[in-house]
Amino acid sequence: SRYPIEALLADIGDIATSLDPADLRRKSRDYYWYSPILATRLKDKVADVIVTPRDEADVIRVAAACYRHRVPLTVRGGATGNYGQCVPLEGGVLLDMAAMNRIEWQQPGIVRVQAGAKLFDIDAQTRPLGWELRMHPSTKRMAQIGGFVAGGSGGIGSVTFGGMREPGNILAARIVTVEERPRVIELRGDAAQKISRAYGTTGIITALEMPLAPALPWIDVIVAFDDFAESIRFGRAIAMADGVVKKLLAPIEWPLPQNFAGLRQYCPDGKAVLLGMIGSMSIESFETLLEAFGGTLTYKAPSEDVLTKVPLYEHTWNHCTLQTFKVDRNITYLQVLYPHDRVVESAAEIGARFEGEVMQHLEFIRINGLMTASGIPVIRFSTPERLYEIMAAYEARGIMIANPHVLTLEDGSRYKRVDADQLAFKHEVDPLGLLNPGKMRSFVPRSPGALQ
Ligand code: FAD
Repeated sequence: SRYPIEALLADIGDIATSLDPADLRRKSRDYYWYSPILATRLKDKVADVIVTPRDEADVIRVAAACYRHRVPLTVRGGATGNYGQCVPLEGGVLLDMAAMNRIEWQQPGIVRVQAGAKLFDIDAQTRPLGWELRMHPSTKRMAQIGGFVAGGSGGIGSVTFGGMREPGNILAARIVTVEERPRVIELRGDAAQKISRAYGTTGIITALEMPLAPALPWIDVIVAFDDFAESIRFGRAIAMADGVVKKLLAPIEWPLPQNFAGLRQYCPDGKAVLLGMIGSMSIESFETLLEAFGGTLTYKAPSEDVLTKVPLYEHTWNHCTLQTFKVDRNITYLQVLYPHDRVVESAAEIGARFEGEVMQHLEFIRINGLMTASGIPVIRFSTPERLYEIMAAYEARGIMIANPHVLTLEDGSRYKRVDADQLAFKHEVDPLGLLNPGKMRSFVPRSPGALQ
């Protein structure tokens, strides 16, 4: 190794570590292989040591040791991120948060958790008291709350509450800095956005305070449509009906439903489907609204959110890509945001231009109070050049792209830049640039002795 790992290990004492090569290889990966471009770039990246802290005191000790010995530190949550977010590009320490998984406390509408708690486990503990997380990614069964806040953007629930970055969706975050004497900082309110989707470059999150929503009995529905555009129009009508309580609305174009092994019998050949989660008190209103559209309800049953069964939502968001990968390896994907006032039109234009090459599904999401749709189109992959041509066609129609085929925060953002707040904050909390190096390209350390 190019780092003094022995000296580092001596400093961190009895904290659990692993140097096992198989472990190191396995844990240094996430779902970056969804991108054929990143698959080749990242396959050989591997950490030098995995460290598993038990509590915040352990995290502080590891941060101090990394600073002292100038060893990079990459935080690993559930490792379901998509762009090598938790792949240690420069090796060093992989900080595995899995053991810091305690719920600290809850009160009506709020839960305080350690960062390594799994989303699934959080809901399981808050539901009996009548509350659940406002939103979760489709990877809820594996992902951690720290990984979701540091790497994710939104998901099931965002049709009502917006993305993770909407004001109010993170109440507080507690972080450990990487300095000679690491500090513990509690970021409250809007300040917590300094760590949101920063890929773990702006501090090691040890705890989070998250707002909750009332836990409702949800009903899973599938509606089949002759026409994809009609499924979007209906999805939009339900999305805009504020009195109809919902958690998920995802119109999906044929042939994608062909790949949904578990739902195949409810997805008629050649039809588009809308997958939804509707509050049980709203199901009649949902069905009444459907009468004005050309769809047929093919499935309606209470959501079973259990670890042992593939939930309906694991066919939406980026799980639609995963279901397709299971039958066709020659695909890839994009992450897009349709213009709120041209959702149906812009999706139709893309459909006409790239028939057979781009397969669309949309997920309705409220952003800044405006109902719009994000989408994770599945794309038949030919060459990187063609992929970039498709992205240009999206952007020409006012559809924003968060490029999932790049490694840095800047290139992967819809705005192609890092948040100014996050950049300034990084200088305060990680002056040597040891946290997840290579992910924030605008950061140039000012301190002598820095890595880069
Ligand atoms: P990881 O992958 O482990 O980490 C993500 C990033 O956060 C990394 O940069 C890591 O360094 C950093 N990090 C993790 N923990 C901490 C911490 N304690 N402190 C500081 N930094 C930390 N995302 C969505 O937003 N919505 C979706 O619906 C969605 N669907 C997906 C479907 C599939 C099939 C896949 C493969 C991915 C999907 N994703 C989605 C992406 C990803 O699953 C989520 O963002 C998830 O929340 C990441 O959590 P994780 O614990 O796996 O994080």
